[in-house]
Order: sequence, then structure tokens, then C-alpha cells
Amino acid sequence: MFKKILIANRGEIACRVAATARRLGVKTVAVFSEADALAKHVAACDEAVLIGPSAARDSYLRGDKIIAVALSAGADAIHPGYGFLSENADFADACAKAGLVFIGPPASAIRAMGSKSAAKELMQKAQVPLVPGYHGENQDAAFLQMEADKIGYPVLLKASAGGGGKGMRIVDSSADFAAALASCKREAINSFGDDKVLVEKYLSQPRHIEIQVFADSLGHCVYLFERDCSVQRRHQKVLEEAPAPGMPEARRRAMGEAAVAAAAAVGYVGAGTVEFIANQDGSFYFMEMNTRLQVEHPVTEMITGLDLVEWQLRVAAGEALPQRQDELRLNGHSIEARIYAESPEKGFLPSIGTLRHMRTPSAVTFELGGLPGTPAAVRIDSGVREGDTISPFYDPMIAKLIVWGKDRNEALARMAVALSEYQIVGLATNIAFLKRLILSSPFSGAQLDTGLIERHHGELFPEPQPASTAVLALAATSLLLSEQTTAHEPWAQASGWRMNMRLQRRIDLADETQAYPLTITYSATGWTLAEADAATTAITLDSHHGHELAIKLGALAVRGAVVRDADMLHVFSQGEHIALAYNDPMAHAGEGEAEGGRLTAPMPGKIVAVLVEKGATVEKGAPLLIMEAMKMEHTIFAPMAGVVDEVMYAVGEQVGDGVQLLSFVTAVAVVA
Ligand code: ADP
Ligand code: ADP
Ligand code: MG
Repeated sequence: MFKKILIANRGEIACRVAATARRLGVKTVAVFSEADALAKHVAACDEAVLIGPSAARDSYLRGDKIIAVALSAGADAIHPGYGFLSENADFADACAKAGLVFIGPPASAIRAMGSKSAAKELMQKAQVPLVPGYHGENQDAAFLQMEADKIGYPVLLKASAGGGGKGMRIVDSSADFAAALASCKREAINSFGDDKVLVEKYLSQPRHIEIQVFADSLGHCVYLFERDCSVQRRHQKVLEEAPAPGMPEARRRAMGEAAVAAAAAVGYVGAGTVEFIANQDGSFYFMEMNTRLQVEHPVTEMITGLDLVEWQLRVAAGEALPQRQDELRLNGHSIEARIYAESPEKGFLPSIGTLRHMRTPSAVTFELGGLPGTPAAVRIDSGVREGDTISPFYDPMIAKLIVWGKDRNEALARMAVALSEYQIVGLATNIAFLKRLILSSPFSGAQLDTGLIERHHGELFPEPQPASTAVLALAATSLLLSEQTTAHEPWAQASGWRMNMRLQRRIDLADETQAYPLTITYSATGWTLAEADAATTAITLDSHHGHELAIKLGALAVRGAVVRDADMLHVFSQGEHIALAYNDPMAHAGEGEAEGGRLTAPMPGKIVAVLVEKGATVEKGAPLLIMEAMKMEHTIFAPMAGVVDEVMYAVGEQVGDGVQLLSFVTAVAVVA
């Protein structure tokens, strides 16, 4: 086994690898960028070295610096995690040249699978089934369109060098082909430095089922069963589970053997995943192979009781696979939910900011390398702590929440409870959305396909409901309690002396549905709360501890936590997170109005296309400019009909959060 490894990554995966290394007595070296000086992964390792500025290309993608650090720290090997350099064959070669073990497959296998086009060519030879399509060299636009016409619409355009759900465009008709191709190629060159694309038949209502494979350098290769990752947004996984619901034993074996054949065809060693796209009737086609540890590997660990990072280290150190195919056992069911800093309601737009408040679910008892057969109920893999920041530089994932149950229903129930217990304040998250998704009829009923989220939009994005009296009472109570410290409020003092007075005050709360003007009337025993058109409710405080409150509304006991963040009160109660704006009469005296006619960057990023010129007349909703931020393209649309007054930035320029991108004058109707 290695004495010391360098972990060439950040976030949850770096912490994850460090945990296994520690358990095996292997020392760890972290590398970090300027943005990550105080990051959790730095604290999780035995040593840590600053490798450069925040942008990944200046730090986590600097293979040369990372190798130099590994050598000077005396490491034997480098674990690349996922993303960054994990699928970079040149980096794997450079490690070998420097006398370091790259904990991953041989560079030749990475190269063979690195291009989706070349991989499909190889798989065709190995007789692994493929989706119909064109994956050849000819990149002429007219030729590709002809191929698409032949395949029949809809087709999917894919960046051959793509990954992470980027560089894909669904094309519904021949008329849309040219524009989609241009946009796909632009994203491909920006993200992967290579604009080669392939065209595939776009399957309707398919499932994404992938097989975890593992090979050692002694010629053994096994499959560790499957994961179903059909629940996706923007072609990126949101929920993953193992095993795949409804998988017959014979098909599990057929897919497992096809995956092992795919790995064998490229001389694979280490952990890898062969991704298949499957029709509802079970027929399946090779999609791509990810030559690394996958984000969702924990669900496989949960159902096998194995530590895949331990297997990676053993195989990289030249040991044989710890188990044979016939020794591997599948136990129970596991589901993973990716908790992201994003707004599902705004098209899953990433959100950046500080995790001002974070409470994680209780009963997190999973121990890697724990006894097989006794998996814990809940596991959290995370690279951030309360107080940390989700920056625009890296992936906006906050954590992976993983549950185990003896069957799918038990896992589902545990996931729903764990999501209810997760509290995050400071940025937008997808937690409430994940909970609706878990409980939605298609997911809980295992009616899985990659279009699930889009098709069930109505159920997953219900109209916001007005806050309940219980929620308003919790919010108001917490405000009154917080004002105790100021000592000027009547509530602050013992209530007895005011027995005969009726002290009243207003509290103005609001959410996206409405305003809640509340009237509070103090009494000897507590106070009453009156909503605008509703009856008055008597409130008594039972207890409070930190953010946690227990109150009574009349005879009804209510518990919850209330966290204040600037002008917002975040109420967590009965598994819900309700954000209420508090109109504090003391704050915001004399602040400016929102400006009209300005168009600002929703987050820091880079301009990738300017679609209008100064002086252009545009319709409401016309695309004006495209920027790239947090690994996604964002189009800025005209908020109303008008004339472009000025375009402030050119293609390639970096822009900061909230800066003005264009100015715009509203069209004036001329009356004759
Ligand atoms: P998986 O295929 O393992 O399920 P995803 O496809 O959802 O995972 O996303 C993981 C991929 O996201 C990584 O392989 C990598 O390509 C990409 N990725 C994640 N973080 C970054 C980053 N900071 N910079 C560049 N790419 C990243
Ligand atoms: P990436 O490298 O970005 O992970 P993949 O080729 O694995 O790209 O595809 C990502 C997702 O896109 C799949 O999980 C699936 O949801 C969807 N997808 C890919 N190919 C097809 C196809 N031919 N038909 C329908 N959906 C597809
Ligand atoms: Mg994929």
C-alpha cells in the first residue's frame, strides 16, 4: 500500500478520498487554490499546499504544479477524484514519467474512451450495442444535417469531448439543425477546447442505467451491479439509486457482462462506469464510459458494503481485486440526492453565496469500511461547513445525501425525512425540490425516465401557497425574542406590570404570494396574533433554544426553527422551509429604487456571444447576449420591446456579479 498520496481535487470528493486514506493509514497531501485556503478538504488532509489562483485552469487543472508538489512532498501516488484532471490522459502519462502512480486507468484507456466518437467506434468492434447515429470524422455542417435527416428527428448533438451534461443539443427538426449545431459547437470549443460533435437518435422516454466496473492489473474484471440515474435536469443527474428498480436478474447479468466487455476492449484497470441508455422494454445501448470514480459511487458502496476508494488504492498499488464476481452481494436499496446551490424555480440557475446557517440530518452513522451487511441509514458526503462559501469558480454542489433501506420504500422514507431535516440559509438550494421529487408519484412509483422532471413540471413546481398561521406565529415569536436584547420592547420586560394596558404593534411580513400585516397584542400570559382578515390567535411560548422554538397557538403545539438572514426570516417547520421577508421599519431609510432599462449579469461569468448591436430594435423576449457562468450558458433576454442603447461588453470579457451588460430604451408608441 502507498505511504502517502496527493489528492488532486477539492470539495466532497477530496474529503471522501482523505477519509479512506486515513482509515488505511495512508498519509494525504491536499492541494488548494486561493479561494479554498480555508476549505474543508484542506483541513481533512495531513498536509496542504497552495497551487494557484482561484480559477481551476490556474490551480486544479495545473498538472505540472500538482506533480511538482507531489514530488516535493514525497507522495507515491496521485488520486485525481472526478472532474478536473481525472480523465486527462496526458496528466496520467506525466505522472508515470515523474515516477508517480496515477490512481486511475492506464492513459491508453482514458484516451480510447475520451472521445465519445472514437469510443463508439471501438464499442462497435467489441459488439457492444450502440444508439443509431453518425460518429465519424466529417464535421461539415451540411453533411451532418444530412446524417440527421437520415436518422430522423429528434436527434441529439453531442460534443465528442463532452461531459457533465454539457455540449448537448436536442434538435426537433431539420429547420432547427443549423442553429443548434452552431450553439453546440460554440459550447464544445469553450468547454472542452474541441468542437467535434456526433449525432445520435434521440430516444424517447429512455432510462439512464450504468454499470460500475472494476479491473485490476492482473487481468480480473468484475461489475458491481447497476445504478439508475434517470432523474436528470439539463442531462445532469439529480437522483441516483441502486439497484435499478425492476431490473431482472438476467438483464443485470447481460448489462454487467457488456460493461466488462467494454472495459476489456480498452485494457481497463481501476474503477470505471459504463453508461447505457435503455428503452422502457429493457433494450440498452452503450452511451459512454467514464474512466474514473463517479459522483454517485456511494449508492454502490451502500448496497455492496464495499469502499470503492479502498479498492482503487489497492488496485493502483498492484494488488488483486478484493472479491471475485461470485462473491459480490447486493444488499438492500440506496438512493443519493445531489444537494446543489441552485434555484429550481429559476430553471436551476446556480446560486452563489455563504452557507450562513446549515443543519444536517440526524442519525448520520455511516462509516466507510463498516461491517458489510450493516449499512447505516444516512450518509452525507460534503466538502463544505457552515460559514463556507459556494463560489462561482467551481461546481455548485453542497453535498450528496445518501440513504440506505432494506428495500426501496424504506430508502424513500428515510430520504424524505433526511431532506426535511436539512436546513440551509444563505443561498438558494434544491432541497425542497428534491423532497417533492422523492415524494412525487412517478419517482415513488419507480416510473423512471430521463424526462421525468420536465414531464411532471406541474406536480414538481406547485403554485406557492400562503404561509400558515403557525409559520407566521413562529416568525413573529422569533422576532419578538430577538428584540429582547434591545430591552426597549414591552416584551422584553416582565409582563405582569402591564396587566391593564393593551400594548400593540405591527409586524410586516411578506412572501412571494402576499403581504402579511400582523397585529400583535401583548397580554399577561403571552400575546395574540391577528392576521389581516383572520381570527385572532393566542400565542404562548413554551421554550426556545438557539433557533429552535416551541410555541402554542391556542391549544395547538408547534415547533420549528427560525433563522434570520438580513431582511429574511427562514422558518423551518414540519419539513418545510418558508422564507419570509421582514419589512424592518428601522432599516433601509432612503435606499434607491430599482433601475429601469438596465440589464445586469445574474452572476459572475464570461460573455460568449453578443447577439445585438447598438441601435438595434428588439421585441420583448429577444435574446440579446449569452454569458457563461458556473459551467452553463445563460441567455439575457429583452425585458420589453425597445432599442439597444449601448452594449457594454464584448465576447470573451469577464463580468462581475450584477454589472450592467447592456442599456436599453423602451420603444415609444408614436401617435400620428
Ligand atoms: P458523474 O458522471 O460522475 O455522475 P456528472 O457528469 O454529473 O458526474 O458530473 C461530474 C463531472 O462534472 C466531472 O466528471 C467533471 O467533468 C465535471 N466537473 C465537476 N466539477 C468541475 C469543475 N470544477 N470544473 C470542471 N469540471 C467539473
Ligand atoms: P455526458 O458525458 O455529459 O454525461 P452522456 O452521453 O453520458 O453525456 O449523456 C448524458 C445524458 O444525456 C444521458 O444520461 C441521457 O439522459 C441523455 N442522453 C444521452 N444520449 C441520449 C440519446 N441518444 N437519447 C436520449 N437521451 C440521451
Ligand atoms: Mg454521461
